[in-house]
Amino acid sequence: MNIHEYQAKELLAKFGVPIPQGIAALTVDEAVAAAGKLPGPLYVVKSQIHAGGRGKGKFKELAPEAKGGVRLAKSVDEVRAHATDMLGNTLVTIQTGDAGKQVNRLYVTDGVDIGKEYYLSMLVDRATGRIAIVASTEGGMDIEAVAHDTPEKIFTITVDPVAGFQPHHGRAVAKALALSGDLAKQCQTLTGQIYAAFVALDCEQIEINPLAESGGKLMVLDTKMSFDGNAMFRHPELVPLRDETEEDAMELEASKYDLAYIKLDGDIGCMVNGAGLAMATMDIIKLNGAFPANFLDVGGGASKEKVTAAFKIILADPAVKGILVNIFGGIMRCDIIAEGVVAAAREVKLAVPLVVRLEGTNVAEGKKIMAESGLPIVSADNLGDAAQKIVAEVKKAA
Ligand code: GDP
Ligand code: MG
Repeated sequence: MNIHEYQAKELLAKFGVPIPQGIAALTVDEAVAAAGKLPGPLYVVKSQIHAGGRGKGKFKELAPEAKGGVRLAKSVDEVRAHATDMLGNTLVTIQTGDAGKQVNRLYVTDGVDIGKEYYLSMLVDRATGRIAIVASTEGGMDIEAVAHDTPEKIFTITVDPVAGFQPHHGRAVAKALALSGDLAKQCQTLTGQIYAAFVALDCEQIEINPLAESGGKLMVLDTKMSFDGNAMFRHPELVPLRDETEEDAMELEASKYDLAYIKLDGDIGCMVNGAGLAMATMDIIKLNGAFPANFLDVGGGASKEKVTAAFKIILADPAVKGILVNIFGGIMRCDIIAEGVVAAAREVKLAVPLVVRLEGTNVAEGKKIMAESGLPIVSADNLGDAAQKIVAEVKKAA
């Protein structure tokens, strides 16, 4: 789960991490009122979307030369002008894809005089089974570009989660950022605080870019934070931070029915039970020269209602030109699946080809239900046959 910058900063502040003052705003008037409460005379108006690269982003509705999604303002009037430009408009950044994201919230912060910008992030490193701290003197820039062009400027320090964060880790980070004296001390403290937040909140990643030095003080000017979704049951306090308008509508709908759904770029919708079988199904679709439109695992004990919901979710995607249902009925009975498929196909007035491969418990009853439904369902005998049939049907319809 991802959250907005202002939410992440408020969480970090609770662990003692220094951040500039700031107030979130949903309207232009709220943004102006927020600026009135800040010391000024420099403010920053920041679009709150779940994507980075906002500063260099472009608004679809504004002229190409207009400024991006993070802007400095030298007066409250400028704050008003920037807020008017941003709210309700669509920001396209390197991370949003071409569709961009609508800006519905702003964060108005106290403008900081930046001496130097640094990069600092923490993430779960599955390869080492540790928490990796990544630090670089090249802050404020696209870190992927730094990693590509000057990998020697990126330092990785890993922390054993059992032993936890030790003073030597803080010293190593300060050294990586070429800090000395009091700044090095601040860096050690701040890194320890961020690590404490990372562990306490079950984070997947905390990225700070830039970490800024201003008048001899280090502070976090921008941060992205994401949590391990599987740990959310331990954090009822984080649940209200979820912003569903930032999430893919179909993935959200799927999560309501406990379906594992991920939207992909192809045109063949897949409904499968079991993640392994879903992966194999996607592979075999590709092997036959087509691409899956989604990953969808209905799980081991899916009901007729769940199958119907899954079907509707697949069909709500306008890119879907055909559907392949591949179910192995072990715990799940094939006749139940067939009933669900028939009911859903009737309800949604199916207009694309549908190939169904059923195998396992009650397979004969399942095939009978589909054959007698009067619907144009193509039955397949095995995985290879199913993939060939759906690819052929989609080509025929095109
Ligand atoms: P991002 O583009 O989504 O990563 O958003 P950031 O919050 O990182 O802002 C982009 C850039 O705006 C930063 O790298 C800074 O250079 C600049 N910026 C952000 N906040 C301030 C500030 O308080 N003062 C100044 N001078 N620049 C800022
Ligand atoms: Mg940034």
